[in-house]
Amino acid sequence: MLRFRNTLSGKVEEFHPMNEGEVRFYYCGPTVWEYGHIGNFRSAVAADIVRRYLKFKGYKVTHVMNITDVEDRIIAKSQEAGLSIDDYTAKYIDALWEDFDALGCERPEIVPRATRHIPEMVSLIEKLLETNHAYASDGSIYYRIASFPEYGKLSKINFAGNIAGASERIDTDKYEKEDARDFALWKEPANENEPAWDTAIGRGRPGWHIECSAMSMKYLGETFDIHAGGIDLVFPHHENEIAQSEGATGKQFVRYWIHFEHLKVEGETMSKSKGNYYTYRDLKAKGYSAAGIRYFLLSVPYNKQINLNFDVLAGAEKTVAGLRDFRARLNEAKTEPGMNEALHDIALRAAEEFEAGMDDDLNTSVALAVVHNLSREVNTALARKKVKEENKQELLELLKRIDTVLNIFGAESNEMLDSEIQSLIDERQEARRRRDFHRSDEIRDELASRGIILEDTKDGVRWRR
Ligand SMILES: [Zn+2]
Repeated sequence: MLRFRNTLSGKVEEFHPMNEGEVRFYYCGPTVWEYGHIGNFRSAVAADIVRRYLKFKGYKVTHVMNITDVEDRIIAKSQEAGLSIDDYTAKYIDALWEDFDALGCERPEIVPRATRHIPEMVSLIEKLLETNHAYASDGSIYYRIASFPEYGKLSKINFAGNIAGASERIDTDKYEKEDARDFALWKEPANENEPAWDTAIGRGRPGWHIECSAMSMKYLGETFDIHAGGIDLVFPHHENEIAQSEGATGKQFVRYWIHFEHLKVEGETMSKSKGNYYTYRDLKAKGYSAAGIRYFLLSVPYNKQINLNFDVLAGAEKTVAGLRDFRARLNEAKTEPGMNEALHDIALRAAEEFEAGMDDDLNTSVALAVVHNLSREVNTALARKKVKEENKQELLELLKRIDTVLNIFGAESNEMLDSEIQSLIDERQEARRRRDFHRSDEIRDELASRGIILEDTKDGVRWRR
């Protein structure tokens, strides 16, 4: 039985979806004002694990990830560049998918963009105005927090007596509000050049929080199963989403909330001013592979802080290469017919332990430990020639099934690690030495199909991607 921590109750709970066999899952996606940083991808990979493990458990998953493509930084940056917000964000949306795919994340079923859902946001705001949860002031529209007594139930922040202090953190809007805590649902443009939509509630643009309420309920219904995001979104973003959605519908908005912990760099908060800010692309440029980065991000469970340390990241690269070597050795092992019962038991136990670890609050570090134990035991058996044909098939099947969740062996990705390429090149050289040109051509073709070009030079074989 799958259990995970529900931020709403503060407890680890058994997961039971509303409709048997299917899960409706919303993940707060990126704001495409620049390339995604590695902390964003910690969350994206954690959400990918939620999605993949739900599928592993047999659920049909409808996963929605929004793209925030209008907000203050996007407006400022696009104006600086002299571009429309669509032209400005196009580059970062393309980059998002490149990075997302490279890191082995499955694409969600539905990826709504904020700028394409203005009418849905307007009608939600109209409903909040009708029910007195919202008010217009000075051309903008605000949510009236005093109208929603349950405000704070997710973050457990006690707002009584803390209003003035909280207000500065919540919102630095310069507009007139009834109460400092109130937040903007709809913003009047500050000047004529700002992008704005002409709508029934006036000319303006949506606040960030209303986007997620409108888009999640459009695609998943007024009440849905799981809402996830980085832990920094608990307050105010998710608290505000609850106030907006439950204020408008009178129904529970989300049944389970999952929040992913922060990523730190060498023990410090990542920030541009500290010079320790890395996009995924920066790490790629430093020579780390997507597979190594994904492994590193999975090595710490989602509910613990992860510390980016370059020695650890280099270690992750080696670990992934070692696991892939193990699978290749198993795959190529010459086996005799039959089944070794002891090894069969090892496979069954590994399958059980993997599922038990993941069931226990999606503990990816336990799941990885199971894979490492398995590889140690099977490597020993391979060395002693104790792996029989049925064991081999069973073990390869098990690795494949585990990898539908972890996606570290790269069955689904086309990316090859440098060490894998090198070992195929060595094998090709060996084949050529024994004049097995059929095999050497086969290897060259396989590498070519994965985008690796070989060049025979007088100093040996060189390769490039
Ligand atoms: Zn959101």
